[in-house]
Amino acid sequence: APLLRTLGVCKRFDNVVALSGVALEVRRGEVHAICGENGAGKSTLMKILSGVYTPDEGEIHFDGEPVRIGGLAHAQALGIVMIHQELNLVPHLSVAENIWLGREPRRGWFVDRGRQRDGARVCLQRLGVDIDPDAQVSSLSIAQQQMVEIAKALSMQARLLIMDEPTSSLGEADAARMLKVVQDLKREGVGILYISHRLDELDHIVDRVTVLRDGQYIATRDWARTSINEIVSLMVGRELNQQFP
Ligand code: ADP
Ligand code: MG
Ligand code: MG
Repeated sequence: APLLRTLGVCKRFDNVVALSGVALEVRRGEVHAICGENGAGKSTLMKILSGVYTPDEGEIHFDGEPVRIGGLAHAQALGIVMIHQELNLVPHLSVAENIWLGREPRRGWFVDRGRQRDGARVCLQRLGVDIDPDAQVSSLSIAQQQMVEIAKALSMQARLLIMDEPTSSLGEADAARMLKVVQDLKREGVGILYISHRLDELDHIVDRVTVLRDGQYIATRDWARTSINEIVSLMVGRELNQQFP
């Protein structure tokens, strides 16, 4: 069975159909892109998968089992972790404290600082980044903070990582580092759902792409066998005059 499979997932807000008929499959070690214009339903889908919203209809199977994802904590317990565009770190806490926030390793009544620091160090090393677990988060660059978020997901044993435009606030060098981290996680068997508007950057890392338009599921394609032109046509719902390189 694939890591994640959704069948006919729908979500309405009052009389707006935010999402309809989503049939999505993510394999272990796959980078699966979600493409669509503004309002296509990308964020709604991610929020359903990470337990923020309950779908009105449809089924979600994780690891071959039907699941009802009842909240963020439940999603995380399953191994589904979302990294938001707006980072959710606590600025005045240390890197290690942020990584373990709410799940601190304890020795009796006390937080085990040593284990907290060592656990954080292991996760950061797995990403190949040189960040001091004792550094205060507010002293880090945006790129470093994003790496801390990913390290946090790893510490939760994420099996499906949902990334919402992870390179949008990064410069060239940091974006390249981020894409390398995504590739490493993929090699370790983590499934990755990757939202991005930059089709060019997806070229090197994506296995498959699912297109949404106006809340509708449109299609899933193998990236290597699909032109950028075809994907953009699916996104906008018409043939293009202009050719993309
Ligand atoms: P995307 O992330 O692809 O830009 P969204 O998932 O944010 O798209 O939105 C899909 C549609 O659902 C849009 O028409 C949006 O206005 C609507 N929508 C999303 N969230 C809400 C909400 N909380 N309440 C009402 N309408 C919403
Ligand atoms: Mg969105
Ligand atoms: Mg956005």
